[in-house]
Amino acid sequence: MIKRYICRICKNKTITISSLRFLFYKCKICNNIYRPDHNKFNIFDYLKKTSFVKLSNNYKNKKNQFEWYLNFKRKSYKDDKYFFLTKFLKRKKIKKILDISGAPGLTGIEIKKKNKLNYEITEYNDKISKHIKKITGLSTYILDFDNIKKNKVPNKKYDLILIWYSIYYCKNIVHLIDFLKKRVKKNGYLVISQNIPNFAAITKFSITESYPPYVLYDHKFLVQKFQKSEFNLFDLKFFEEKFFIKQYFFKSKSFYNFIYNIICILISVYYIITNYFKISFTDLFLKDYLVIFKKN
Ligand SMILES: [Zn+2]
Repeated sequence: MIKRYICRICKNKTITISSLRFLFYKCKICNNIYRPDHNKFNIFDYLKKTSFVKLSNNYKNKKNQFEWYLNFKRKSYKDDKYFFLTKFLKRKKIKKILDISGAPGLTGIEIKKKNKLNYEITEYNDKISKHIKKITGLSTYILDFDNIKKNKVPNKKYDLILIWYSIYYCKNIVHLIDFLKKRVKKNGYLVISQNIPNFAAITKFSITESYPPYVLYDHKFLVQKFQKSEFNLFDLKFFEEKFFIKQYFFKSKSFYNFIYNIICILISVYYIITNYFKISFTDLFLKDYLVIFKKN
């Protein structure tokens, strides 16, 4: 008999949402969305020997997902994380920052130009971590979400820990919270930013990545969970909504890219129809959130 998939956290029933490379499971109670470990056979498997394989990322796995960090160049780089930090650091006494999965560390370099502080990052791959340290000069420690207890972060406390679009690779939230409880200073901050778990996010991830996030955590779930563990809610922000098809598949850089985008739009429409009765109109829009906790 086939067991119905249950939520890893609250052990409740889930809704199955079909997608290109995976079946995703959405818990009706905690609203988190999970993906299983193994890929489904999908249309990009037919394109393995063509130029589309690079565009589709269909060869990527955990091991090679971030290998491009081995070739990154030190350059001036200002992203949303940089602008958030610039504003956030203004009125607070922050001397030690840990950016979890903060590779390749370019934000750290920019932030250090204007602030006197320690900026350290974590990465899960030893080779990449050593390379980042060499290029950026930032202390880089091993932290693998699949094995948090074996992290190599030195035993000290930080004024601010950032988890910027990476918590979704963490399947074991309990181990992560244990780690954070020990590493965030009293009155220190924890910042988590990621996608709202919905159809748009998983469909986009499933089409564009072959190693997409494991768990998209609902913001209410995270707030509840962290509040039980010495973290108080300090701020919660939502970012502008974007229609996922337009956001990802409307700009073409080359002819191949144009064809690839057409394929992706068709796939998206197919999965909107397939999941029609399980999703609402708002589920078609990507939305991100940022939650800030202050530690007791
Ligand atoms: Zn649940």
